[in-house]
Amino acid sequence: MNAAHFQEDRVVVALDMGGTKIVGALINSKGKILFSTRKPTEASFGRDSVLHTMTKMVGELIERARSIDVAIDKLGVSVAGQVDPIEGKVIYATDTLPGWIGTSLKEHFYDYFGIEVQVENDAFCAAWGEKNYGIAKEATDFVVITLGTGIGGAFFSNSKLFVGSNGLAGLIGHMSLYPDGRKCNCGGIGCIERYASGSGIVQTAKELIEAGNQTILTRMHRDSSEINAKSIFEACLKNDRVAKETIKVMTKSLGTEIGSLITLLNPQLVVIGGGLMASARCFLEETIDVARKHSSPAALRGVKISSSKFPDDMCLVGAAALVQVGPIPRIGG
Ligand SMILES: [Zn+2]
Repeated sequence: MNAAHFQEDRVVVALDMGGTKIVGALINSKGKILFSTRKPTEASFGRDSVLHTMTKMVGELIERARSIDVAIDKLGVSVAGQVDPIEGKVIYATDTLPGWIGTSLKEHFYDYFGIEVQVENDAFCAAWGEKNYGIAKEATDFVVITLGTGIGGAFFSNSKLFVGSNGLAGLIGHMSLYPDGRKCNCGGIGCIERYASGSGIVQTAKELIEAGNQTILTRMHRDSSEINAKSIFEACLKNDRVAKETIKVMTKSLGTEIGSLITLLNPQLVVIGGGLMASARCFLEETIDVARKHSSPAALRGVKISSSKFPDDMCLVGAAALVQVGPIPRIGG
């Protein structure tokens, strides 16, 4: 950590709370992460335990900044769930975060630290990070897709976040692509998340193995329950047939959906980020190719499909933007 970075720019604390991990960081006004730390969410321990972990993390980050004479007076929080940004309250969360509905993070952190707090949904934060510090800076109409354990999304129109009638627009991962497809934990059927997310590709690989296909994945793991997205990408790079078939299902699903989104929304730019982008060389080129073939040629003209400059930290950087720049301007909701 370089003290010079702190002196030249205003520094804020940003938190990104997801289903598996909580990441905290000190971020300057250019969206640069100066220091970051992470802990497992351990959501099954209950809301109060997770809230305690988050509060402790914020306290430690404030203390770290203070140790080099930098005072922190703002905190931006990105949360996996539906958020009322004015109240800073979680108004809906799935079973992966039990007990969170009704939690006012804004009130909690303000009461604890006496600093300005802004809270927003994680996919919306990802788009806000791209708009302020990433490759969507110059774009007015763009789509952001995050590929991780699940798939998140957000859409900006005329430089404003489109949130729909009830603040739920952008559930890109839960658009149904296969009418008779896999059941999704959202209650839907054939959602793209079940085919193109980390958990989706694991499911595809397991189904191919259960159907009797030979693969090095069974040698890489003692038990097929241990197969994960990372090992599938590794196997794909080794030309494993099951892994390659799995990635083909992923690129076909994701590419077709991106193509439809381009036709529907007429964006200038589609930004792809999230943890799976660490293995982008296994799927990005093919996904873009499929997307181009499945877009209306008129809507496709001039559209750029690119990876994020900070694919792993989109939500975190967006959380910082909530307090560095301000809350996200919205259309609807
Ligand atoms: Zn779904």
